[in-house]
Amino acid sequence: MKVIRAAKYGFCSGVRIADLKVKRFAAAGGRGAILGQVVHNERVVQEMEELGVRTVDEILSVAEPTIVFSAHGVPPSFHDEAISRGLQILDTTCKFVYDIHRESKAALLDGYHLVFIGDPKHREVIGYTHDLAPGVYHIMSTVDGAEKVDWSRYPKIKIFYQTTLNASDFEPVVRRIEQLAARVERGDTICYATRENQDAARVLAQDPQIDVIIVIGGKESANTKHLWDICRASKPSYLVQGAVDIDPQWLSHARTVGLTAGASTPDYVVDEVEQKLAAM
Ligand code: SF4
Repeated sequence: MKVIRAAKYGFCSGVRIADLKVKRFAAAGGRGAILGQVVHNERVVQEMEELGVRTVDEILSVAEPTIVFSAHGVPPSFHDEAISRGLQILDTTCKFVYDIHRESKAALLDGYHLVFIGDPKHREVIGYTHDLAPGVYHIMSTVDGAEKVDWSRYPKIKIFYQTTLNASDFEPVVRRIEQLAARVERGDTICYATRENQDAARVLAQDPQIDVIIVIGGKESANTKHLWDICRASKPSYLVQGAVDIDPQWLSHARTVGLTAGASTPDYVVDEVEQKLAAM
C-alpha cells in the first residue's frame, strides 16, 4: 500500500513554539499547571503530564508556582487574576491570536460592533469575548443566527474569524450579515497555517489515485475536524488520534492512502501512523 502525505500538515508555528516553551520550562525544573490543554491533542497533554506539567480547568486549581496559558490564549483578565493569586505566568499564546486581541480592541475603540465567527465554547473565542460587555459583540456561526440580529442598530461592524476555521464554510453567514448591515468590514484572521493545511487536504481529497484518507488529530481539535470535513466530502476518510486507532477494515480495498494531520498533531504521531500503514 502506498502512502501519500499532504504537502502541508501537522504542527503549526504557534503550536510548535508553545510545545517547545513548556518542554524547556519543564526541563529547567519548572513546576507549573496548564490552563486547558496546551494544544488540543491528548498525546501532547499526556507528554506534558509525564514532564510534570499537568492540565487544569481553572485558575483556582493551580497549586504550582506557575500557570501556563495555552496557544489559544486567554481573556486579558485571566492574567490579572493569576497575578493577584501570586502565580507566575508562562504565556504560550500564539502571536496570531494576540493580533486578533489587539485588532478587535482597536476596532472597538474605533466604534465598531464586533462579530466573531466561530464557536462560542472554543477557548480562543472565549479569550476574545469573555471580558467584553455583552452589547458590544456577537458570536455567529449560522445564517439563522445572523438573521435574528437587528444589525441596523450598529453603524459599522467588524468581522473576525476564529483562526482555525474553514472560511468558505462560513461565507453564507458573513454574506448574510453584509446584506443586513449598513457597513461591514472583514478582518483577515484565518491563520495561514490552517489555510495551508486545508488547501493541502483539498489537493489530497481531489487526487484520483488516493482511495482513502487518514486524518490524524486530537478529539477536541477544531482544525483537525475541519480537515476531516474537507477530506470526507470527497473520499472515504477516517479521523484517528494515533496508529492504534486504525481499523484495517477501512483499508481492505485501498491501494493508496492519503495522510494529513491537524495543527496540534506532533510529527512523531504522523510517523507512527505512516509506519503502521506501510506495514499493513
Ligand atoms: S493554528 Fe495558527 S493561530 Fe492557531 S496556534 Fe497555530 S499558528 Fe497560531
